[in-house]
Amino acid sequence: MAEAVERERMEYDVVVVGAGPSGLAAAIRLKQLAVAAGSEVAVCVIEKGSEVGAHILSGAVIEPRALAELFPDWKERGAPLNTPADDDRVLYLTRTRAFRLPPLPQMHNRGNYIISLGNLCRWLAAQAEELGVEIYPGFAGAEVLYDEDGRVRGVATGDMGIGKDGERTERYTPGVELVAKETLFGEGCRGSLSKTLIERFRLREGADPQTYAIGIKELWEVSAEVHHPGRVVHTVGWPLDSATYGGSFLYHFEDRQVAVGFVIGLDYRNPFLSPFEEFQRFKTHPAIRPTFEGGRRIAYGARALNEGGFQSIPRLDFPGGALIGDAAGFLNVPKIKGSHTAMKSGMAAAEAIFARLNGNPDAQVRRAIEQSWIWDELYRVRNIRPSFHLGLWGGVAYSAFDTYVLGGRAPWTLHHRHPDHAQLIPAAQATRIDYPRPDGRVSFDRLSSVFISNTNHEEDQPPHLRLREPAKAISVNYRLYDAPEQRYCPAGVYEIVTDAAGGEPRLQINAQNCVHCKTCDIKDPQQNIDWVVPEGGGGPNYPNM
Ligand SMILES: Cc1cc2nc3c(=O)[nH]c(=O)nc-3n(C[C@H](O)[C@H](O)[C@H](O)COP(=O)(O)OP(=O)(O)OC[C@H]3O[C@@H](n4cnc5c(N)ncnc54)[C@H](O)[C@@H]3O)c2cc1C
Ligand code: SF4
Repeated sequence: MAEAVERERMEYDVVVVGAGPSGLAAAIRLKQLAVAAGSEVAVCVIEKGSEVGAHILSGAVIEPRALAELFPDWKERGAPLNTPADDDRVLYLTRTRAFRLPPLPQMHNRGNYIISLGNLCRWLAAQAEELGVEIYPGFAGAEVLYDEDGRVRGVATGDMGIGKDGERTERYTPGVELVAKETLFGEGCRGSLSKTLIERFRLREGADPQTYAIGIKELWEVSAEVHHPGRVVHTVGWPLDSATYGGSFLYHFEDRQVAVGFVIGLDYRNPFLSPFEEFQRFKTHPAIRPTFEGGRRIAYGARALNEGGFQSIPRLDFPGGALIGDAAGFLNVPKIKGSHTAMKSGMAAAEAIFARLNGNPDAQVRRAIEQSWIWDELYRVRNIRPSFHLGLWGGVAYSAFDTYVLGGRAPWTLHHRHPDHAQLIPAAQATRIDYPRPDGRVSFDRLSSVFISNTNHEEDQPPHLRLREPAKAISVNYRLYDAPEQRYCPAGVYEIVTDAAGGEPRLQINAQNCVHCKTCDIKDPQQNIDWVVPEGGGGPNYPNM
């Protein structure tokens, strides 16, 4: 057995896990509060991506409200918000035609900007460092540390250089213990440490199940004639049937770039549905294809997003820290925006934590967030996503009524009754879906797509996709649901293979392709897949997603 190695230990007032908008806004606010109080606060942020922004994938149209509260002079400081959104369009697609629909008020984007959230995070990181925050990219939070009373006392980063067989290789470097008075978890949607904290501290008691969607995105450089900087297009309808929640976005921004993506609610029921292929065929629609024909696809990626909204917000505080951002779930679904609420939640959390560090042990992150504008914003739209259980047109009609007639103040709340993983019907009862072959011009296959996510993992490491009961991959997933992970994984990680002699099928996991979207952790019908962090620095290397 390998000799136990003592891990290096570093101490801070606050450790933040995740350099997304929530984590960086929290770190910045803590430092600003210390400057204002003439005191000191030691803050460290760790990030599993190889650099800040490498794992950030969003739309993104940003509402600059939280940013303006954090830095009223963000324009002078050069924040990368360069394209005002000034042309909103909502389309309903049939197989061959497109009809313009009036957007709900929440979908109006005047005053907002089309950005790369990855680039905004890089900019926020530079501001944070200027204020004295220590940021460590390439370090994945692998384990929550607890003291003898069960209080969170920080996190440990993963060991590097452990081989597939669990033995140390010549690259071995032990993880580091980052010990803090308070730890904030800003890991984003379905954070792996956040998931363990939610279970351990039963943070979800009294809340609805969290529900999710998968968002798959590409970045294109298009020709000048079809580029309209500031244009924001959303579509509903084809290629999805009216029982499946989802739609697309096309955001035209600087340098002839168009961000195009497709979002599908993970409460879909047909195990034959493939979000990746729905996205690819969406781009072949006659109203969409001309934007991309002759253009160049620059980047590809995917990420899950929260859709539970107000009803699904868990308790946020636990002894020694709190959840912030999408790790808790503050996305505003009808707006399809979560970066402003993620930032604001980080800022409100920082204020509560700073008070806690300075002699007010009763300060609560949850209360600070309840008293912020996040609460009212999410409360008013809480019924919109669950109303789509009535189907597309039922949801549209209910949403119009709730918004225009009731102003979001209905005396009832619609609930999410079932978690997404419980929604699939058995393959024997489902209709197979025949997807067209990619044309290589506007639609592509998985492998060439994953290639431009620039994802990369050290091959000799223990699997970061863990099956709780390996036999279920065949006995349940394959036999009952025709192995839906082959289709919902946007990176081709899961493959059912049989040997040449046509023997028993088995599940092959190509973990090195993983783009860290977390869909398998969410959608596996028996919650048999645990996504845990791979070695720090592994995963996609998104340029400006
Ligand atoms: C397809 C899509 C489109 C969207 N469109 C929009 C939009 O147009 N406008 C908008 O406002 N919002 C949009 N959103 C939502 C928005 O992106 C999120 O709400 C926002 O990014 C949440 O911020 P966060 O800081 O909570 O998490 P994230 O942005 O997910 O950041 C979390 C960070 O933590 C890191 N991390 C995670 N776990 C660990 C760990 N254990 N150790 C170290 N690091 C870790 C991750 O690598 C990542 O960098 C969209 C989301 C998606 C998926
Ligand atoms: S393995 Fe899971 S987390 Fe990784 S890309 Fe596939 S579905 Fe997403």
